[in-house]
Amino acid sequence: MTLPALHASWLSTVLDSLPGPEPRSGCAACPMVGSPSEDTVFAFPADARCCTTIPSIPNVLVGAALREGRAAGLESLRARISDARACTPLGVEPPPGLPAAFRDPLTGYARARAPRCPHQQADLSCGVHDTRPAACATWFCRPVDGLGGHRFWRAAFAFLHLLEETAARAVALRLLEPAAAEALFPVPGVRPAERPDVWGRWAADKEGFFRACADEADLLGAEALLAAAGPLGAHRAAQLRAAAAGRAVPIPTRITTGEVRRRTIRGADVVFAYSPHDGLALPADLVDAISTVCDGRSTADAQAALVAAGHAVDDALLAALVERGVLVEAGAR
Ligand code: SF4
Repeated sequence: MTLPALHASWLSTVLDSLPGPEPRSGCAACPMVGSPSEDTVFAFPADARCCTTIPSIPNVLVGAALREGRAAGLESLRARISDARACTPLGVEPPPGLPAAFRDPLTGYARARAPRCPHQQADLSCGVHDTRPAACATWFCRPVDGLGGHRFWRAAFAFLHLLEETAARAVALRLLEPAAAEALFPVPGVRPAERPDVWGRWAADKEGFFRACADEADLLGAEALLAAAGPLGAHRAAQLRAAAAGRAVPIPTRITTGEVRRRTIRGADVVFAYSPHDGLALPADLVDAISTVCDGRSTADAQAALVAAGHAVDDALLAALVERGVLVEAGAR
């Protein structure tokens, strides 16, 4: 996992260190392909994996991709830039008509066979990997530390997505002449022109505009961008710091079950809580026993009761159940 350079620089303004690798979500050997169900909630389509969405890409990253000039992503990116219905000076958007579920960066991944992201290559790698948007860069099907990692990456997404939007507006306003800026951000209640000229002098050189956006983002710098994001930026930064500090979910002193769902897949009981992509296969009688025994009593007593009933619940399994959010601190639900 390599974060886009822009995202890494933005995260560095609020975190002491950048997040480490996520080997459980490795794309080279996708853990979700071939999962024991055809239900796409549990298995990703082998020919698209989780790239079943068409993500928005802000102008600063479109420009960075063009500047970088990796052949793999250029063709698909240029096709999106040339689609006037889905490209503005703020970046490229999903095409109109794409169902809402696929436009939502939090729910759009891995839901169905179509759509498949136009940047996905024949070998299923990402053609714009080094300049992919926050929605993609922060999405992991199975964070290395389960629930804590999931919370961290959601906070990272919220932070980076806000900075992407802030940067896109800031650099567009620096580069567009006033009439084009007004067309892009019309005064509420003022009927826009039938064909608003949002590009101005850049109409014949949209790629040049996007490259200039990337240059402007570099000049702007992360600190100034965070300041431009205002109180919401400060809030997102604080939430991200808290999520980073709380990634390791401790073993609770008193324990109960979380928001657990249970599915039988090929004869095995699979329980999952924080994500349908990160379940634990357990014997059915153990799942029953957990739901009975973990009733708010002390964790030590619950573990002892499960062991006394003949279930092999060692510390490692207990930690895995907590990591997945199957067991939580009593009173936390
Ligand atoms: S931009 Fe890359 S990571 Fe994101 S959906 Fe497309 S192929 Fe997948």
